[in-house]
Amino acid sequence: MCPQPRTAHLPAAASATGDVGAGRRAAARRRAGVVPALAVLTAVVALASCSSSGGTSGDRAVGSAPADTGAPPTTGGPGRICLTGTLAYDHHDAEAGPDKVKQLTTSVARGTTWQLWGRTSASGAEQLLATGRTDQHDGRFEACSDQTGPLPELHLTFRSSNGNLWKAVDPTTRAEYSFDTPHLTDIAASRDLGTVKAPAEQQGAWKIVDTLGDLYRKANAANTTGSPCWTDHQSAGGCDELTFTWSPTATKGGFFDPESRDVVLAAEDPDSRHLILHEAGHWLHFELSDHWFPDAPGCENHTFEVASTGGCAWTEAFADAVAAYTLGDHRYVYSDGQSVDLHNDPTTTWDKGDTVQGRIGGSLLDLWAADGPDGGSWNKDLQLMARYHAADFREYFTVYRPKAGLPTTGPSRQIIGGHTIDY
Ligand SMILES: [Zn+2]
Repeated sequence: MCPQPRTAHLPAAASATGDVGAGRRAAARRRAGVVPALAVLTAVVALASCSSSGGTSGDRAVGSAPADTGAPPTTGGPGRICLTGTLAYDHHDAEAGPDKVKQLTTSVARGTTWQLWGRTSASGAEQLLATGRTDQHDGRFEACSDQTGPLPELHLTFRSSNGNLWKAVDPTTRAEYSFDTPHLTDIAASRDLGTVKAPAEQQGAWKIVDTLGDLYRKANAANTTGSPCWTDHQSAGGCDELTFTWSPTATKGGFFDPESRDVVLAAEDPDSRHLILHEAGHWLHFELSDHWFPDAPGCENHTFEVASTGGCAWTEAFADAVAAYTLGDHRYVYSDGQSVDLHNDPTTTWDKGDTVQGRIGGSLLDLWAADGPDGGSWNKDLQLMARYHAADFREYFTVYRPKAGLPTTGPSRQIIGGHTIDY
């Protein structure tokens, strides 16, 4: 039995009216133990003076971030003092299923910004000594000062961002979440801080930042310009930044707002990585189309299995496929752990044709599959979308795939036919 899919939502209507579905879920699932918002926000600092420890950054160089210019080596150099460790966060893991989502699990926070702060003399002011990002694979950090020891004071500030490419912010203040490690004094040698855990009331922000790195790497792989930006439409130094607003008490969320260009999430929404990535997928669609979005009428209560309109089904299916492709499955997972399988065929008891979200989503995933007709990835499709702005799936398939040199016969036609779409 499919749950009512109400997470996804787009555009203007959804953002103007709020998301009833998210509010319902939040009310139903409010958990004891989730403390009220107590986001400890540090002052915004001037990144222009930052140096970077490129070696600790798991992400490839993020050229758009001023913080990443003039990077000194991270390691080496006798007497340099480093703070090392692994950044982690606790979270509810919807992908693990409806039973396990109730428990907390721990994940490493990959690709998140750190800043090394300290004083280099007893009477000196605190200064920013280095900045970088946790490793994209294992969440480790190695933050090194150019100064030789001993240092009077040293600490790390972690921020809910990845350079200037994506961030999670408080919806009211629009400040990134951040927290400090203990302020160490009289540091004569490097220290291993072990596992550093993000504060419980901020954990959703860290999960958002961690999860978006998976999408960034796949989207950037399709960027033909070689820039660090999400799409072809900007160049290094001017990349568009993906902003998520979230707080542990937010009751409105689960949509991308093309007006503000924010993804807005409610308190429990980040429990599902699919939900995070679906909404990011709407933003990616908007970015690939160079700040344009297809008309998506009749999308207020869209579902995977019921026919809506061509524009609604196309935009929602693309977002579904972005989430599943990024995570390497064929699912959509709700924040309560329930899920929908996007595999379907003519015997599946869904509506048929190209106005059905789940039919298009399943088609896209099969076209992008490792053994699929589009070259084993979504790269050529994203490049198509960066050049041609399809109003719906029919236009994408019948008009722009031929222009982009992607096949529309043979296995491609069999794939969409298997999902009840026939052109
Ligand atoms: Zn959506």
